[in-house]
Amino acid sequence: MAQSDVDVVVVGAGFAGMYLLHELRKTGFSHRLLEAGDDVGGTWYWNRYPGARCDIATTDYQYTWDPELHEQWQWSEKHAAQPEILRYAQFVAKKHDLYSGIEFNTRVDGAQWNEVAKRWSIHTSTGETITCQHYVMATGCLSVPKEPDIVGTEKFTGNVYVTGRWPHEGVDFTGKRVAVIGTGSSGIQSIPHIADQAKELVIFQRTPNFSMPAFNGPAPQDRIERLKADRVTYQHEARYSGTGVPLEDSTVSALSVTQEEAFVMLEEAWQKGELLSLGNTFMDSAINRKANDVVAEFMRMKVRSVVKDPEVAELLSPYKHGYGTKRPCMDTGYFETFNKPHVRLVDLNTSPIRSITETGIDFGKESMEFDAIVYATGFDAMTGAIVSANITGKNGVTLKSKWEHGPLTYLGLTSVGFPNLYMITGPGSPSVLSNMMVSIEQHVDWIRDTLVHMREQGFETIEPTPLAEEGWRVHCTDCADITIFQEANSWYMGANVPGKPRVMFPYIGGVGRYRLACEEVVNKGFLGFELAGSTKKQCNDGLVREVQPDVDMVLDFIATLNLPAMETMTPTEARAFSEASSAMRPSGPEVGEISDGVLPGADGELEYRLYRPATPGPHPIAVYFHGGGWVFGSHTSDDPLCRDLCAQSNTLIISVNYRHAPEAPFPAAAEDGFAALKWVHANAGALGGIADQIAVAGWSAGGNVAAVTAQMARDKGGPQLSGQLLLCPVTDGSHQHRSHIENGERFILTKSLMEWFWNHYATPEQRKSPQASPLLAASLAGLPPTMLVTCQFDPLRDEGNAYARALMQAGVKVEHVEARGHIHTSITMVDMLPSGAPHRREMARALRGFFS
Ligand SMILES: Cc1cc2nc3c(=O)[nH]c(=O)nc-3n(C[C@H](O)[C@H](O)[C@H](O)COP(=O)(O)OP(=O)(O)OC[C@H]3O[C@@H](n4cnc5c(N)ncnc54)[C@H](O)[C@@H]3O)c2cc1C
Repeated sequence: MAQSDVDVVVVGAGFAGMYLLHELRKTGFSHRLLEAGDDVGGTWYWNRYPGARCDIATTDYQYTWDPELHEQWQWSEKHAAQPEILRYAQFVAKKHDLYSGIEFNTRVDGAQWNEVAKRWSIHTSTGETITCQHYVMATGCLSVPKEPDIVGTEKFTGNVYVTGRWPHEGVDFTGKRVAVIGTGSSGIQSIPHIADQAKELVIFQRTPNFSMPAFNGPAPQDRIERLKADRVTYQHEARYSGTGVPLEDSTVSALSVTQEEAFVMLEEAWQKGELLSLGNTFMDSAINRKANDVVAEFMRMKVRSVVKDPEVAELLSPYKHGYGTKRPCMDTGYFETFNKPHVRLVDLNTSPIRSITETGIDFGKESMEFDAIVYATGFDAMTGAIVSANITGKNGVTLKSKWEHGPLTYLGLTSVGFPNLYMITGPGSPSVLSNMMVSIEQHVDWIRDTLVHMREQGFETIEPTPLAEEGWRVHCTDCADITIFQEANSWYMGANVPGKPRVMFPYIGGVGRYRLACEEVVNKGFLGFELAGSTKKQCNDGLVREVQPDVDMVLDFIATLNLPAMETMTPTEARAFSEASSAMRPSGPEVGEISDGVLPGADGELEYRLYRPATPGPHPIAVYFHGGGWVFGSHTSDDPLCRDLCAQSNTLIISVNYRHAPEAPFPAAAEDGFAALKWVHANAGALGGIADQIAVAGWSAGGNVAAVTAQMARDKGGPQLSGQLLLCPVTDGSHQHRSHIENGERFILTKSLMEWFWNHYATPEQRKSPQASPLLAASLAGLPPTMLVTCQFDPLRDEGNAYARALMQAGVKVEHVEARGHIHTSITMVDMLPSGAPHRREMARALRGFFS
């Protein structure tokens, strides 16, 4: 007789539930595992349609928790077919006696949290109610087929099949007239097989999808050898990789090579017949539309090379979404199928289905009769199984209502208001964007370790905090925002199910980075969780990922280079180092004209670079001062940023090479700034600018020069400025600000580097002058409208914030942007860090606004 009160109830006996069952036994938790089907395997139990296959190679799509399996189970192919994967699941279940712990044919209909008893009540289709302390949804991301939303589906009297619920005995289509609706992964895999049997096959396509041939055969030899040589290292690399397969990340931009070269590289990946190799050819195809177009065009070229009818080839070629932004597919003879005389493609965009009828389908201006209809219409992905299991948490709130506008989770594992509820590969975790075996094992390990920790420490409940959950939502959104995934109407975005909220459901920041976040949460004492027992409580509230994801990647990359700290160099060495680093960056957008010249500074000539918009002039002018701590940099060193500002704001940018310390210490830079402004004002017409539409702008030490120049213009009789644009400006040499400590290390501009800059530029006494520390000016009244940008992880953040506040208090019109998750340098990194782009747009808008 099964216990009606246990430590843990698990729902689902796919690979996730099976492994968890093994771990619960090992760690001695009482448990029940309930499964709606009548065998193990989950996905591979239900999806028995012809051609069903895994797209991840067998070297990688297998359990790692039982090393013996690698010797005891030999895969026959590179990409295992459904029957073989199901046999593998059954083999594991038998080997570990899992069958005895699973209750099949038992569907979970509902669950309620009892806040008094601190337990869940679980209701099953057998009429039983089970109570438990912990409730785990191992219900799968793709286990609820989407109901076809087509008029008349119930009328059809022929045979109806759904790929995700395929009859166990198989289907013989020989001599039949068959319709397949849907050309996602299941459609693409099954269509060639159905075509082999059917008398007539009509495929109804709404969206063409990218697919590549699997070239099935033996598993990749190089990976087999790596695995054999050192399994532990191989698996470690997989766990900390981007996708859960240990491939080296590309460092090549698709835009840095010609199309011909790109196609050679893509062809090499294509021949490997591995989805992830193709997607990994270029570093930027997921984040840059133009880079993605290169891959997409290669894929379309492949379609054209196979499909004989050019019109059909065109219909089968995706144009509306980027490569990878919808789940790309692997096939065996899919496109070739359309060359067969009995196969027809119907484009639902021009010939929509009007209705399913008793005998067939009415579409466009036609009616056709069929013996069978196959719905390959996909799944209510990621949330379908969890939501349909009717979970009610604290205060009677259902998960369905909480997730009405999109799933809210902490780490994709837990959700506020639902204590002791765990989701394996839940929304907000890498899940369907990964080799799911790796993601499943990670979540099972995390849950097991958490349960053991709670038992050992006497905690009864665990629940994320609202702050942590919201922080994770923001982080997931930040990750998605820097990609082009959101442009596509994909099931990743919930777009395939009417009424489903349109958000990015899986975590797109990568398997390894995600794992590190989960580890950090635990290592920081369950950061963002409240743990409670009868006599104790622990809540270490906080956020696990605050730095913008692309910035974080750059910081990690820089850390691997083990570069010397700049403050250990001489100024000459630091200048050479800075120039060498700048040479490697993207150049920034095209502008109308770039020309160099000289202007009179306070003590001799200064070089300048002029960036002219492509539009007819004259233009308003921004006199720009570069960053570099008054020690290095030049009129060309902020080139990408100046181009970007010029192109986006339609403003003439004149970047000035003011004199540098220590050769020309304070107040040389300030005096040069003011001299340059006066010269530009006097020569505005000749430069193609408008004399009474001049602003100053600058970044970092250049922001300091700009702010000081604005004060000098106010105090010394003009020129009258239209505005000042200050990006992360130095405003106060006193170092009294908290951000110097909080952000003093790791974020490129460090506290000690900043001190090194000051030491070269100004003595402690000189720093008290407002021409060194503009924040210390007796009055800020009368300064021009200001756009001031500060970055969350910049040591200079607080002095920038203080300057913005002081300007406002002085009655100056100020727009202050606090760039969340950014560091001192990140907004200047044009075309490298997409997360900086919105702030640059804001800056350009503000600049335009100064002159309107
Ligand atoms: C066609 C197809 C191809 C795929 N290809 C790949 C691939 O190439 N690579 C990859 O990594 N992943 C792939 N996947 C994803 C695949 O789902 C996972 O790899 C993995 O099998 C998921 O295991 P799971 O245990 O988490 O969930 P599942 O295998 O989905 O198991 C969940 C189980 O929970 C049960 N269940 C759900 N709700 C209830 C309930 N209320 N009561 C009782 N039982 C319930 C279901 O019956 C099911 O058996 C594919 C999925 C599909 C559908």
